[in-house]
Amino acid sequence: AASSFDVVVIGAGAAGLFCAGVAGQRGLRVLLVDHAEKLAEKIRISGGGRCNFTNLETGPANFLSGNPAFCRSALARYTPRDFIALVQRHRIPWHEKHKGQLFCDESSEDLIAMLLRECEAGGVTRWQPCRVAAVRRAAVRGFELDTDRGSVRARRVVVATGGLSIPKIGASDFGYRLARQFGHRVVEPRPALVPLTFDATAWAPFAALAGLSLEVTVSTGSGSAAGRFLEDLLFTHRGLSGPAVLQISSYWQPGTPIALDLAPGQDLASALREAKAVSRRQLGNELATRLPARLAEAWCAPLGHLAARPLPEVKDKDLAALAASLQHWMLTPAGTEGYRKAEVTAGGVDTRELSSQTMESRRVPGLHFIGEVVDVTGWLGGYNFQWAWASGHACAEALAAA
Ligand code: FAD
Repeated sequence: AASSFDVVVIGAGAAGLFCAGVAGQRGLRVLLVDHAEKLAEKIRISGGGRCNFTNLETGPANFLSGNPAFCRSALARYTPRDFIALVQRHRIPWHEKHKGQLFCDESSEDLIAMLLRECEAGGVTRWQPCRVAAVRRAAVRGFELDTDRGSVRARRVVVATGGLSIPKIGASDFGYRLARQFGHRVVEPRPALVPLTFDATAWAPFAALAGLSLEVTVSTGSGSAAGRFLEDLLFTHRGLSGPAVLQISSYWQPGTPIALDLAPGQDLASALREAKAVSRRQLGNELATRLPARLAEAWCAPLGHLAARPLPEVKDKDLAALAASLQHWMLTPAGTEGYRKAEVTAGGVDTRELSSQTMESRRVPGLHFIGEVVDVTGWLGGYNFQWAWASGHACAEALAAA
């Protein structure tokens, strides 16, 4: 005979664990199923092992989606403050690192243990590892699932199988396939929060800058698809990385350029022009007073003898061109490092066919999608976990009210 539950949650990651715990504590009989050997690996490795579990500044503007207003309701009803209260109830020490980003003091394991305790408090049954082979609508109402541990019946199914990033710890396209099976559209998934790569020959002049890190403004795209960040950039042997590049990668479209300002907040053209009146320094040396020396050197190399000229002998138009090459540096990435290195997957189950209140399918009553599998993608900095908590919570409340 089939096992019977009120709800089956597929995927015991951030969103699934949290949703299952809340739903269980509201009195529902919940089964949580995950195919991975180890529980919540992505939480474990997140934030360098300390899990950047939320961001104090979280709002809809910190997310990308084909439907930017979709995340508003869930984010408003379960806020970073609500999650912090839970973390504090479990006596997990945390700190703010940078720009509202909250991390565990000790280890992301603390958070996994917390989510497990919440599931225990809700009497959640967890089958792991356990594969789900098929999900069907039952003849009368609800769903039937075929799993490694036999068939299961449930009134409702929650899909929390995440995105495609880091395949070696259990990421799969299960959620997208299930969505399509039930007639849902899926916004084409792509790697996001990922380093960008450059053509080796095009990159050669900058390879010597490997290891240099500096704050920059980075931007790409136009109109409503535009992204712009003030963050640290890291030069590597192969290209660019660091928070600035991870952030902009989510907005970048193949074949298009990104624009970098390597001296944000300065007006280099005017500053160099004004310096002519008061200084006989060589152009290269003057530049090195305003930028990291290695950067100034790399930008002067192609100028040849001009870099050694005393400032007053350099034409204004040459100063302006040099400034522009630093403050409007346009470069076109060859690609990204792909899902192997991506922190998240952009795209996913199209939100136009989901309720933003309940995360329920408008096509198939009783079927819900939460977390990263949905076409809602957060910036770097704790926003993706806050979406997992908020969408999981909205869903759990709806399950309990149904
Ligand atoms: P996941 O947490 O990925 O969980 C999905 C679960 O579904 C997994 O347990 C998986 O095994 C299971 N599953 C998949 N397919 C199947 C299937 N066919 N059957 C059964 N189960 C299945 N975000 C932040 O906000 N802050 C950070 O510090 C941060 N750091 C990160 C660091 C790294 C290296 C990576 C890769 C991501 C990081 N993220 C961070 C992103 C964040 O981890 C995810 O956005 C978040 O985990 C998504 O939650 P989820 O529950 O939707 O998916």
